[in-house]
Amino acid sequence: MGKSYKIYNINCALCSSNVLTYHKYGAGKGILRLYFKHIAKPKSLVDSLYRDVQKNLKCAKCENVLGVKDVKRGQLVYRMRKGYFHRKLDK
Ligand SMILES: [Zn+2]
Repeated sequence: MGKSYKIYNINCALCSSNVLTYHKYGAGKGILRLYFKHIAKPKSLVDSLYRDVQKNLKCAKCENVLGVKDVKRGQLVYRMRKGYFHRKLDK
């Protein structure tokens, strides 16, 4: 059985640090928003997602804001800021 999602590494566009690992479901290659429930790593981020402490998605190293917390169809998401992050398909 194949996986029903693709694994993307999301990196900071400014300092190239890895920020998180995302499981993307469905077709399409673009990443406009990240659903909290599909963020897989790091554990420190996943554990804090549902608490209200984590407002925006920030690079831990340079504090670049990659995404802004939002709600889409009742689900918590990060609305990603174009040009502030890079995505890399994990093969
Ligand atoms: Zn950075």
